[in-house]
Amino acid sequence: MSLTRCANGHMFSTRKHGNTCPYCNITVEATPKGEPRRQAPVDAEEKTMPYLGETMSIHPVTGWLVCIEGPQMGQDYRVMSEKNFIGRAEEMHIRILGDNTISRRNHAVIVYDPKKRNFYLLPGDASGLAYHNNEAVYSPAELAAYDLIQLGHSKFIFIPLCGAHFEWENN
Ligand SMILES: [Zn+2]
Repeated sequence: MSLTRCANGHMFSTRKHGNTCPYCNITVEATPKGEPRRQAPVDAEEKTMPYLGETMSIHPVTGWLVCIEGPQMGQDYRVMSEKNFIGRAEEMHIRILGDNTISRRNHAVIVYDPKKRNFYLLPGDASGLAYHNNEAVYSPAELAAYDLIQLGHSKFIFIPLCGAHFEWENN
């Protein structure tokens, strides 16, 4: 059997079908016997490239929360661009373990707006309140460097990276 591969990746027998792919009717150039096919290595490269691209993409950090009181005292949490949901559940962007007075899902949300280049603390839809500099948060509160955030029995200091002094390109 002499199998060949068309430009769309179909394998077919040239003995049966000649130089025309029976699946998509593309004409395949005849390969002289004994010469390695050029199609195979190019094809393999095309298949692995998108996966490499995905694993190499890093979401750039825009700021941090640092726990200064509570079970996670000393721990820092990365704040990313746009919405960061905070809670104890695994799917939360900022997952805080050990303090059961923090709601599992959406206790609060920290937002970095890459267009206006500022941070906000938003109340979550959970039952627990979030406090910004000791005031309960009912509507978006703009965050400044070293502002104090309290969730449950835990307290955090907010440290911005992006904003007036720095911004990632292409953000
Ligand atoms: Zn084909």
